[in-house]
Amino acid sequence: MAGSPQQLTLLGATGSIGTQTLAVLALHPARYRVYALTAGSQWQALAAQCETWQPRYAVLADAQAALSLRNHLQALGSQTEVLAGEAALAQVAAADEVDTVVAAIVGAAGVRPTLAAVRAGKRVLLANKEALVVTGQLFMDAVTASGASLLPVDSEHNAIFQCLPACTPGQNARLAGVRKLLLTASGGPFRTFTAEQLATVTPEQAVRHPNWNMGPKISVDSATLMNKGLELIEACWLFSVPPSLIDVVVHPQSVLHSMVEYDDGSVLAQLGTPDMKTPIACALSWPERIDSGARRLDFTRLAGLDFEAPDETRFPCLRLAREAMQAGGTATAVLNAANEVAVAAFLDRRLDFPGIPVVVAETLARVAAPACTDVDAVMAVDAAARRVATAQLAART
Ligand code: NAD
Ligand code: MG
Repeated sequence: MAGSPQQLTLLGATGSIGTQTLAVLALHPARYRVYALTAGSQWQALAAQCETWQPRYAVLADAQAALSLRNHLQALGSQTEVLAGEAALAQVAAADEVDTVVAAIVGAAGVRPTLAAVRAGKRVLLANKEALVVTGQLFMDAVTASGASLLPVDSEHNAIFQCLPACTPGQNARLAGVRKLLLTASGGPFRTFTAEQLATVTPEQAVRHPNWNMGPKISVDSATLMNKGLELIEACWLFSVPPSLIDVVVHPQSVLHSMVEYDDGSVLAQLGTPDMKTPIACALSWPERIDSGARRLDFTRLAGLDFEAPDETRFPCLRLAREAMQAGGTATAVLNAANEVAVAAFLDRRLDFPGIPVVVAETLARVAAPACTDVDAVMAVDAAARRVATAQLAART
């Protein structure tokens, strides 16, 4: 590629998506430069990345961790400047020097930094689905207003993006002749478990996903099918479709990453090995194509591709997410906040696995979810939902 290298900020650099993004960047040193790397509190992991990538800035949400990183890098004579706090995350996401922002913070913690990148009109590679689930219309309006290029990294949405006519989300005019979006789901590690078995599953079992190696929160979401629920909401916003136009299909092998069905009966799909480096590389280089380093798909070695309907009785989170999207307003922010509280409690052994959808459903029933036109109001709803969900955890023990 001719021209100067693209300058990148990686929000959530130390996570599963962040490290896989750096693995793709390492294959293309002439094409990309790292401007800023950020993390929540894992300063040692960020320190190692700073030594390799020598970014202009390293940002930690946690001030104490930032102090440790600053001392560490100073002792090494590093040129990287260390900043702390949410405002600094937004600052490095919106900086003039930056072309591309990889939004890979987990949860609603990514809302403000990701929105800062969108508002600054960046090329935004969206992995942090919760940011879109929480802010919805507000997020897409900001994309339109700033002219940001929004590129989906989530493998299913990246697949749908590739199966639609070329134009990025927020630009519309992509849906002529589209009858359905078919979102595939692996079914997670408990796909074949009975309700009795689900009652006693442990966090260790839940984070051991059969096909993907992901952060703990999304791994639990995959096990409850809340991940697919969040993705259904994400797809509604990205591709401007109502929930009724989206079908979820369980496909345990995770080789086919989602599909688009057209009016004439054509179904387009995107396939590949289950490796996030493929959608990351696609989003990084779109509309060009670059090597991702992912293992190639060998059709002669595929044992088969299976498909089945999701079971919303054993996995009610998918239904709860669809209903929240249909309810509108900030119901999806309430759903997301309650889920974050419930998943953290499950990982901490304070809540059993079947308790996750119970806490989410109860919170949705109790918290008012008005439509909000500014992010502070949305985050106030998020905070109210967290309080109600947390109170239910106390009531259950
Ligand atoms: P992870 O837990 O591995 O990493 C999360 C990153 O966010 C880390 O760098 C962490 O330091 C940072 N972080 C956490 N809390 C923070 C806070 N309060 N402020 C600032 N930074 C904070 O998560 P992941 O699996 O990489 O997922 C990241 C996002 O990508 C999630 O929204 C997830 O749904 C989405 N996603 C992940 C995958 C995957 O394969 N891992 C696939 C599709 C989508
Ligand atoms: Mg996904």
